[in-house]
Amino acid sequence: MLDVSGLQASYGAAPALWDVSLHVGRGELVCVVGPNGAGKSTLINVIAGLHRARAGRLVFEGEEITRLASHRFCARGIAIVPEGRRLFTGMTVEENLALGSFLPQARAQRAASLAQVLALFPALAQKLASPAGALSGGQQQMVAIGRALMSRPRLLLLDEPSLGLAPTVVLDMFQAIRDINRQGTSVLLVEQNVAMAMQIARRAYVMEEGRMVAEGLAQDLVNRPEIQKAYLGLE
Ligand code: ATP
Repeated sequence: MLDVSGLQASYGAAPALWDVSLHVGRGELVCVVGPNGAGKSTLINVIAGLHRARAGRLVFEGEEITRLASHRFCARGIAIVPEGRRLFTGMTVEENLALGSFLPQARAQRAASLAQVLALFPALAQKLASPAGALSGGQQQMVAIGRALMSRPRLLLLDEPSLGLAPTVVLDMFQAIRDINRQGTSVLLVEQNVAMAMQIARRAYVMEEGRMVAEGLAQDLVNRPEIQKAYLGLE
């Protein structure tokens, strides 16, 4: 579904990604883990069309999308839930969700998409008329994910969805991500909560200093001593 190869990206003269390659198969849930500053957000932003690649290729559903204009990525079926959620806090939950379905194809299915989002996150049903900024952190993250789903993506990109959430809420969030994937959406998840991400992902990549340093089945990676030591606090 998604093939990233030889990707390089930078901020001005400062390189952030060096020769990064990654694959997400149709229906897969794949995670990318790594320490702060490893380049995970940069990678996911390049895949969403929000940051330009300096070199390398992005191929989505068999077509090269590397040089497409950023607004075309959404029309192609890729949606991102950005780090920090980026909601319009003064607008209602329903208005925030509706923003995800502004393209004609998605707009035609807005009612059905909203019903799906509310089935996934029932807590939002009572909050549709509330300003998004009045919601708890966990509920705001639900709105951010819901907004992305309203565009009916075939590939959902999630940047640190568990950041800043209480541990009990984090569990629900990961379960919802697994449900989204089970309902047929491919997912690429960037996380610092390595233990949880590795539990729900089938395959995983480990990034350090702008490079992929390990990849494999998540179950195998969590059993590697170097991963346990660096990311799981185990000796
Ligand atoms: P975090 O979890 O902290 O977001 P990350 O793995 O997502 O980390 P990136 O945010 O992609 O990492 O950062 C990769 C590198 O690019 C870092 O060295 C960072 O300092 C740098 N960087 C990120 N954003 C910018 C920016 N807007 N301008 C300049 N440098 C940036």
